[in-house]
Amino acid sequence: MVYYTINSFGELGLFAKENFNSGDVVFSKTLTSFQNQPDKYSIQVDHNNHFNPNNEVLAKTNHSCAPNAIIVYEESTVKLVAIKPVLIDDEMTFNYLTTEYTLANPFKCNCGSIDCFQDIKGYRDLSPAQKKSLQPYILGYLKGR
Ligand SMILES: [Zn+2]
Repeated sequence: MVYYTINSFGELGLFAKENFNSGDVVFSKTLTSFQNQPDKYSIQVDHNNHFNPNNEVLAKTNHSCAPNAIIVYEESTVKLVAIKPVLIDDEMTFNYLTTEYTLANPFKCNCGSIDCFQDIKGYRDLSPAQKKSLQPYILGYLKGR
């Protein structure tokens, strides 16, 4: 289970209500409708398919360049999956560059990670080395792009 609260940056974020191990599915939802353009809250799952979480869990999940979760999309189901051990009251994050080819709302990242990508514009704008570093985490539609 997860909950929403204000994080240390003063923004709403998604937090763990229980401990998760690497590989645990934190949230999952079968998708039935998509929009064909990105917006600030959508998550891109395929070339022309953007899922809008509205007020659901994934709408509140912040970006990090050193996240503790990833987005997985398979068989019409989107999942938030832990990639590190997560403790109760840890904020859950994923790297938006692993889902978005081009962000509708690019931003400067302040995550503080030594591997910070800084300009979060989309997978399209990454260097070959940056793309390579994200290969294990990107959605299937981005592979080879
Ligand atoms: Zn960052």
